[in-house]
Amino acid sequence: MTDNMDELRARILAFREDRDWKQFHKPKDLALALGIEASELSELFLWKDESKIDAMTGKSGDVEAISDELADVLIYAILLADYFDIDLVQAASRKLEKNSKKYPVAKSKGNAKKYTEFDK
Ligand SMILES: [Mg+2]
Repeated sequence: MTDNMDELRARILAFREDRDWKQFHKPKDLALALGIEASELSELFLWKDESKIDAMTGKSGDVEAISDELADVLIYAILLADYFDIDLVQAASRKLEKNSKKYPVAKSKGNAKKYTEFDK
């Protein structure tokens, strides 16, 4: 079982190495694959109203399908980050800092406005 990002990254790279798939993992293709997996995740919710989506919460099959697609997105994100030597934990932390400046609590609490709409 993998319980941290470094171990997970190592397992993903070993999985790829065992299959000799690095040759196919160009950044464009990894980015496209990530988007496709995000679309597969979106498809699980497509045309469902809120009550149907709420009902998915308690169904292990639905939760497993969501989990699988989220995992696919994460795996491609890790592979793309690896290509550019990006530490994803640091990147997410840095982005969270940027977001907290963009979305100060005083202006964003309880509303879903984009930061460009704050003073309008
Ligand atoms: Mg998938």
